[in-house]
Amino acid sequence: MRERRTPKHVGTYNKNLVLEVLMKQGPKSRAELSRITKLTKTAITEIVEELLSKNFIVELGQVNTTRGRRPTKLSINPNLLVLTLDLSGILIKGAIVNPKGDILMMDSVKMREIDDLLRLIERLYEPYKEKIVAISASVPGLLELSSGKVILSTSLNWRDVNIKEIIEKKFPVPFYMQKDTNAGILAETWYGEGKNYRNFFYLLLTKGIGLGIYLNDRVLDGYDGIIGEIGHTIVEIDGKDCWCGKKGCLETVASIPVVLEGYEKNDINDALHLAIKGGKMEKAIKYLGLSLSNVIQIFPPQAICISGNIPKEVLNYITERIKEYIIPNIFPQLRSKINFYYSNLGENSLILGAGVLGFIKYFNR
Ligand SMILES: [Zn+2]
Repeated sequence: MRERRTPKHVGTYNKNLVLEVLMKQGPKSRAELSRITKLTKTAITEIVEELLSKNFIVELGQVNTTRGRRPTKLSINPNLLVLTLDLSGILIKGAIVNPKGDILMMDSVKMREIDDLLRLIERLYEPYKEKIVAISASVPGLLELSSGKVILSTSLNWRDVNIKEIIEKKFPVPFYMQKDTNAGILAETWYGEGKNYRNFFYLLLTKGIGLGIYLNDRVLDGYDGIIGEIGHTIVEIDGKDCWCGKKGCLETVASIPVVLEGYEKNDINDALHLAIKGGKMEKAIKYLGLSLSNVIQIFPPQAICISGNIPKEVLNYITERIKEYIIPNIFPQLRSKINFYYSNLGENSLILGAGVLGFIKYFNR
């Protein structure tokens, strides 16, 4: 949410800092805000007045206690809601979230055509239409954030689909999107263990393999949304054809669908366990580990968060095994400095990340 500290951006930076504290830490008084943000009381008063006038925040009632009147607490307006979408899974998920990250309603659909997605949005939108301020999505694939276009997503089977135009034509609120790995980072830094780190990697295992990079408190956006395509770095010279048009990409060896080939089961847990026993998972983890160790040499992170829409015990297994392929392949000086963990936000992390994005964009529009 924070902008670079140039004079032009100081006002926006400070306003966002106050909103960020209220979103992450809950209701605070003016004095508490001043202490936490290190902004003067006068600055806080000005910012609070502006945010109250825009209805972004509200004053909670004063509480009288035996020790006198406690100062009024300020809170993000709880009546602002965002409709969020996670387009990464086999099922497309949608939800209504509030600024605290509570999910008020959730629904999903198996998408065959875009109309299925629009009907899902409609079902979520109708009951809350008075309060929804934005629709916000976590999207897999190559995106052009400036236009709202999905350039290519094999996971969605979309090429040059301007999803922003399609959704804004039908619903009277702004649409925002972010690459799925970056939505995941937002969720981690807002609600997960990621809030403890200034630099970390977010490895996302869905149908593809993506790497979100959080560097010096900032989510790396890359050039107009293309970033962290670790799944399309070459790991086998003259290897198998990849959907991206190249050969031997990491995704051709280590993506979850590749690991599960030959173990088609109704239950993904059963299939994953067979893949672990049969050694296919081990090969995938080895390649993932080697690829990550290459990136670590370039941007050493404080932590690596492993996430994906697979069961937590499998994420835990991957997290434990992957260290064995990373540690010997990075500088000894780095070995004890990197924390490995799997995201405990579970399967809703991309929904929550898209929610954070929606609020940030709404407050800065
Ligand atoms: Zn590729």
